[in-house]
Amino acid sequence: MRKLKTLIFSDLDGTLLDHFTYQSTAAEKTLQQLESAGVPVILNTSKTLAELTIIQRELHLNTPFIIENGAAIYIPINTFKTQPADTILIDSYWVKSFSLPRQHWITLLADHADEFSADYQSFSTLSATELCKITGLNLAETERAKQRQFAEPLHWLGDEATKKSFVDRLISLGANVVQGGRFIHVGDFCDKGQALLWLTERYREHFDNISIFTIALGDGENDSAMLEAADIAVQVRSPVHDFPILYRQYKTTKTQLYGPEGWADAIQTLLANQLVSSLPSLNSGENHG
Ligand SMILES: [Mg+2]
Repeated sequence: MRKLKTLIFSDLDGTLLDHFTYQSTAAEKTLQQLESAGVPVILNTSKTLAELTIIQRELHLNTPFIIENGAAIYIPINTFKTQPADTILIDSYWVKSFSLPRQHWITLLADHADEFSADYQSFSTLSATELCKITGLNLAETERAKQRQFAEPLHWLGDEATKKSFVDRLISLGANVVQGGRFIHVGDFCDKGQALLWLTERYREHFDNISIFTIALGDGENDSAMLEAADIAVQVRSPVHDFPILYRQYKTTKTQLYGPEGWADAIQTLLANQLVSSLPSLNSGENHG
């Protein structure tokens, strides 16, 4: 008999946050239930450290989080007994990075893909006011979104055929290109799945002799690697695009409801069916098969 600890990895935009309003109201009660049950909710997002610092506080989370599409993991220093290897201490976090800095990709775009420059607007050239119009965020939120450390998001203006040539060019130059909800992210070969696996291993080391069980929830193509890597994958329905295709079929569900409503519904179903008996043991330390 082995003990079981569940970790939940979740995307934000279009998943835990509504695509249009950025609100998580429909999921709040479920988040409280998970906190009471000792199940960490680990945000895994394309957003920046500046944005996550605020969102973690708003959602009352003191858990590790993953920023900029798997580029770095921020682990509050009280999460584990000792600092994980290959992390650095920044403020009150142990930080694991998987990516070259953003400037590398900005330089690459300027030096080797300049003929496409009329087909997109980039985060570094867009003003905060212009970005507000694209994202629907307010000015303060947009300033936080602009503080990117690892990848460069682009707002594509050209046609699909040109986009394919552009993406092929970037890939040949050693860049990784990920389609997010609103932006194309140009950066390093890191993804939300690699970050999930690395952090899950740290939990395994820390909770010696406990089985770690992972659930991932996401709506976008940039969530696919995370969804493929988890024990259970929940694809959250989007009001603006179809479900991205997953290779896995086993233990994969698609929500009927959109965004945070779908998120809460899926977790409630998992709580009611599969995990209802195991959750109390997370706190009490009872054995589980
Ligand atoms: Mg999303």
